[in-house]
Amino acid sequence: MEGTVETLDNALSSKYKASTDYAKLAAGMKVPYLSQDPHETSTVINGLEECSKRGKGRGGFSAKKTKYAVASSPTGIIVDSWRFQEHDYKRRDLPTYARGLFTTRTKQGVPEIAVRGYDKFFNIGEVRETSWDHIFERTKGPYELSLKENGCIIFISGLEDDTLLVCSKHSTGDRSDVAVSHANVGERHLERQLQRIGKTKQDLARELRKRNATAVAELCDDSFEEHILAYGPDKAGLYLHGININIPGFMTYPSPLVQKFADDWGFIKTGLIIIDDVQTVKAFLEEVAETGAHDGRDVEGFVIRCKMTTNPGVAPYQDWFFKYKFEEPYLMYRQWREATKALIGGKQFKLRKHVKITEEYLLYVRKRLAADRTLGKAYLQNHGIIKLRNDFLEYKNLRGSDAANLEDLDGGASSVDRDIILVPIATIGCGKTTIGLALSSLFGWGHIQNDNITGPKRPPRFTRALLDELDEHAAVFADRNNAMKHERKQLINDVKMQHATARLVALNFVHNDIDKIRQVTQDRVLARGDNHQTIQAATDMGKVVGIMEGFIKRFEHCDIEKEPDAGFDAVIDLDPTAGSRENLEIVVKELHRQYPNFVKEIPSAEDMDKAIQAALDGYKPDMRHIIPDRSRNDSKKNNKQQQQAAEKPQKKKPLEYMSVDLTTNDILAALEKTFSPNLSASQTRFFKQLQGARRVQPKFHVTLMHRASAKEHPELWKRYMFLQETDGAIHPDGKLGELQVQLERVVFDDRIMAIVVRLVPTSPEDENINAGDVSLPAKPKWECVNRVAHVTVGTRDDGVKPKESNDLLARWLKDGSGEKTGIGELLIEGKPMVKGIVRGVLSK
Ligand code: GDP
Ligand code: MG
Repeated sequence: MEGTVETLDNALSSKYKASTDYAKLAAGMKVPYLSQDPHETSTVINGLEECSKRGKGRGGFSAKKTKYAVASSPTGIIVDSWRFQEHDYKRRDLPTYARGLFTTRTKQGVPEIAVRGYDKFFNIGEVRETSWDHIFERTKGPYELSLKENGCIIFISGLEDDTLLVCSKHSTGDRSDVAVSHANVGERHLERQLQRIGKTKQDLARELRKRNATAVAELCDDSFEEHILAYGPDKAGLYLHGININIPGFMTYPSPLVQKFADDWGFIKTGLIIIDDVQTVKAFLEEVAETGAHDGRDVEGFVIRCKMTTNPGVAPYQDWFFKYKFEEPYLMYRQWREATKALIGGKQFKLRKHVKITEEYLLYVRKRLAADRTLGKAYLQNHGIIKLRNDFLEYKNLRGSDAANLEDLDGGASSVDRDIILVPIATIGCGKTTIGLALSSLFGWGHIQNDNITGPKRPPRFTRALLDELDEHAAVFADRNNAMKHERKQLINDVKMQHATARLVALNFVHNDIDKIRQVTQDRVLARGDNHQTIQAATDMGKVVGIMEGFIKRFEHCDIEKEPDAGFDAVIDLDPTAGSRENLEIVVKELHRQYPNFVKEIPSAEDMDKAIQAALDGYKPDMRHIIPDRSRNDSKKNNKQQQQAAEKPQKKKPLEYMSVDLTTNDILAALEKTFSPNLSASQTRFFKQLQGARRVQPKFHVTLMHRASAKEHPELWKRYMFLQETDGAIHPDGKLGELQVQLERVVFDDRIMAIVVRLVPTSPEDENINAGDVSLPAKPKWECVNRVAHVTVGTRDDGVKPKESNDLLARWLKDGSGEKTGIGELLIEGKPMVKGIVRGVLSK
């Protein structure tokens, strides 16, 4: 079986491919067509509009609408992009399931679908509809299997004014925050391919418009962005895989017609296999899954197109897709191959999964390499990869799929090396914060204190803060009591919804001897005086005891047999009356035992002593707020007074704007260099005027977003406010992150001067906060909503507000610089990169 991978592959190809002449098939096919019904379109748009306006209430969902001006449209067409959260596509009540949808209005004001993606489709077994049983019962052939290409999706269509609209899943045109957008790169490929066949973008726009269709292609180009599968220059380009009719329902071309269109318009064709019988489809997919390769190429999986009815014999058949992604052992083989190459090349390679078996495999490979000097060289040229793998499996007497399954017996725990959330189940004074701080200092893990999150909707924001910490840390400590089951339920569910691979480990402070626990924790807390956010002991002992008692009364024991606690991946029992040093050691040792690749070594006793001591000595909360008194012992009046007294000094100021602060000297140096004395007087006049009048700003920043545009970008503003309230409150200098800022050019008129900049993420995490969820588009953490990211250098007088830079730059984009427009423009030599610190700036 395993030994015949390559031949099996050939056999498959000839078995399924040779018999089918797609060109011939296409010739006999009717091209699907339907025109747009403006009434139907406007119903969908209204539905989307409604979803975008309402918040995400309980069980609710919301659509996100983004406006784009189509840069190449001579008549200034504007399109709206619509998107739902990925998991919302599983709902049954959406106005449309098109993933990738752009709408617009014609000159006459008629609503129109400009781009229509596929209906969201799911992996085999992911939803009920994609179980094999359902597929057997409700679908009919022909089944068109196309290779799941591995790039990013590009939509192409024709607008009313013959502009070719090129979009990625949810956006189009330039983006101020990235050097080149997917849509831009796609458009460039398109230009090249059309040039090759002597056609223009207008030709293609007209053709697609005539067909009322969107062409759907995969942009695969390693020179732009590397995906898991390799696309060298000879394979790079736009792989056409579908043509959809621009209507709310899902109607798509049969693949032979897609291939014909690809031929006619210079696209690369997506590999295609047509199988009539569903049992054969299943057998085929399962065979290829064994090898992870098809037609001599690595493949990620297949998309299968067919017709489906929701009710056989009653409802009509409609176009319907599902996908079949290859997982194991294919992914393991891929890791083996990469690890082997790294080994031969003397490079480091981090094993992510299948750690134990892969280590064994590598040990075996090491011996083979030592025994045969030609092996390594050949391997690097991709020879003998499969043979080496099979030799090892034979030596171990294992099938590949069994090898891949080996470690999944322990839930994959031995391969876990990150994304752990530690969740105490405790009451006040158990030592949560002490242990959390000690762990942070020992391992550099994140630590989020619920006490530091103030304001409404704390639970989801707490979860969000934890998950954000996982972007930067291998683990995070969820410092909250989680004394009640509903709190645990919230946390577990929210985490699992948003982060598929995070593991939740309970630190279960077992509450058996309540009297003793009460005594120990009260003693500790009353001894600690005023150093706590919510409880300022010395201020009001009675009240503190009341609050502590409340938690003890409400405490619900952890029961891992039942929900919600069954949702924990592991539980570590601790004794609240034992010292925190002792508990710390239990936590560390247990984590090491259960996740050996996560806590690889146990720190020395001295290091643990020190970490606890530092936590006990140094811990001073950096903010205070008061929680409503639950003990009800105090008179109402007294209570109110206390609250007022506590709230007064920290009346919260709202976020005014998000800023990327720059170093003054960096900017001044760039300006000095740009305005060199050998420029003409007209070029330097305004700068000199600013300098003379001391109107060059003392400090410089790039505005990412101002609260004034919160309405246009509600999600982003929410995210920024949240980051400010959480991270901003924790970091002493308010630093939220870092960016590189590239200074490109100075643009000015006689009122205002600005530097056009480019924001460059410093870490991969900042570059794509959706990394890890391949189904979401790449999205930078620090988005700039201004059309042109810029630094205002100075304004003529107080009558000119810095935000007018936006107007200047809009004019500059539209009309350009020069005498006619009265706009000066100077390139900054070398386009220097300077460091920027992201901070939230609060209202005065
Ligand atoms: P939390 O309410 O669960 O977060 O508990 P803390 O970690 O804040 O601990 C409560 C108080 O007890 C703090 O003042 C700690 O400094 C103190 N504390 C924590 N662990 C120990 C310990 O092992 N021994 C003693 N004596 N005090 C401790
Ligand atoms: Mg605490």
